[in-house]
Amino acid sequence: MSTTSVPVRRALRPSGRHRPEDTRRHHRALLLQLLFRHGPASRADLARSSGLTRVTVSDVIAGLVAEELLTERKSGPADPVQGRVGKPPVLVQLAAEARQIVAVDLSADGVVSGALLNLSGDVQERRGQPLEGRRGDVAVALVHTIVGELVDAATRPVLGIGAATPGVVDAAGVVVDAPNLGWHGTPLAEGLRAAFDVPVFVANDANTAVLGEHTFGDAGDGGLMLVRVGTGVGSGLVLEGALLHGHRAAAGEVGHVVIDPDGAECACGRRGCLETVLAAPRLRERLAADGPDALAEVGVQVGIALAPVVGTLNLNELVLSGPLELLDGALLGAVDRTIRERTMPVSGEELVVRTSALGDDVVLRGAAVLVLAGQLGVS
Ligand SMILES: [Zn+2]
Repeated sequence: MSTTSVPVRRALRPSGRHRPEDTRRHHRALLLQLLFRHGPASRADLARSSGLTRVTVSDVIAGLVAEELLTERKSGPADPVQGRVGKPPVLVQLAAEARQIVAVDLSADGVVSGALLNLSGDVQERRGQPLEGRRGDVAVALVHTIVGELVDAATRPVLGIGAATPGVVDAAGVVVDAPNLGWHGTPLAEGLRAAFDVPVFVANDANTAVLGEHTFGDAGDGGLMLVRVGTGVGSGLVLEGALLHGHRAAAGEVGHVVIDPDGAECACGRRGCLETVLAAPRLRERLAADGPDALAEVGVQVGIALAPVVGTLNLNELVLSGPLELLDGALLGAVDRTIRERTMPVSGEELVVRTSALGDDVVLRGAAVLVLAGQLGVS
């Protein structure tokens, strides 16, 4: 590496030659996204809300109907498209059953769980097996086994495979580092792609969970942070409609921020990381030893750690995801109160601190979003 540094002027977005196929892909994703988010619409409505010409909309829709990703039907009295004289307009809608998605969740302690989902993110089939201490290549082989069972169980063409794993994952789906699975530089996406010949998307479990909450939870359009509490603690953020990756793809790694230098020893080798008080096994220990009041004390510590994040990013929603019997109630209340005490009124006014209504499926549904976003451009 050179020791002299040359200032580089960076564009905010990558620039390059614009190709006609990029335009077609963009139009297709734009229309699919409108239908995914807002439900059935006529071609005229789609032209209005997308800003595309009627001719372009008709052309792209014809292609999507031919691929069976969209279906057509006549509008009825219950549809919002009303008030025109003459024939009722034909509506197009996403065909939720046109494809299936294989999703894998490696975030839970000691279990690999997988599911088949439709394009609306509904879980249709489940498979899973205990990890039983498997690590490295043997753990990869178990993932392949479960994916294989789901691919065999699929009754529709498989749109893609989405996998959520602990640890840092790069853009090519290489698990850079996941100590609990013994994965270091493990090309999980490449291996699955080679074995099953469908598109594969791999991402960090907390990032995947926040995508699940953003797309299928009750999330609004403001900034969203999801803190995933399991064997460890991680978080994912969706800001201005996009997942935050960070400089080294490690955005959201709040679990190993030290909150008490004299605290308990952490798996990372330091003392008093947030994970040493908030990880599910630690919460269970505290509850057993000190009773329910101890969870409120943890909530205050978590609130102190997260208040600067909420204030800095002006988040709209902070979601805790994990065992509800530990998180919901005293702990959540204390987090909420502490953040409000420690931030400007404007930060707290519309802030919602809650748990996820999707339960543990938030990760599997997020893994489906990885595929929907990668293959159809919808999220
Ligand atoms: Zn740590």
